[in-house]
Amino acid sequence: MSSSSSLSSNSPCAACKFLRRKCQPECTFAPYFPPDQPQKFANVHKVFGASNVTKLLNELQPHQREDAVNSLAYEADMRLRDPVYGCVGVISLLQHQLRQLQMDLSCAKSELSKYQNLGGMCVQSLSTLRLSLCGIVRILRVKRV
Ligand SMILES: [Zn+2]
Repeated sequence: MSSSSSLSSNSPCAACKFLRRKCQPECTFAPYFPPDQPQKFANVHKVFGASNVTKLLNELQPHQREDAVNSLAYEADMRLRDPVYGCVGVISLLQHQLRQLQMDLSCAKSELSKYQNLGGMCVQSLSTLRLSLCGIVRILRVKRV
C-alpha cells in the first residue's frame, strides 16, 4: 500500500505518461489511471480519445467518476477485442444465456409441481385408506361384541 502511494506521488499517472505531459497534483486522470496500469489508459484513449474522457469526467460528480472510468475501460477493452460488436457481443451472449436459464427454470418448476401434485394425491389416498381401515376395524369390533 505504501509502495503504491509513493509510486503515484513520484511518477506521473498512466495518462500523463502516455500523453508525455507533466502530471499536476490536481490531474483529473491520476486517481483512475495509476502508473502501474498503463494499458488501461492506452485502451481508453485509443477508443474514446483523451479529450473526450476529460470532458466526460469533468461533467460528472467526483463520486461517479470511478464507475465511469471502469465502464469506459471495460468498453474500450471489449471494443479492441471485438471491433464489430464490442461489449454488446458479450451483453447479447449473456442475455441469451439468461433467457435459456429462465426457460430451464420454468421447466424445472413445472416438473417439480407435477411431483408435488403426485405427492398430494398419495397423501390423499393414504388418508382415504386409513379411513376405510378404521371402518373395517369398527365393523370387526362390532362383530366381536
Ligand atoms: Zn496525470
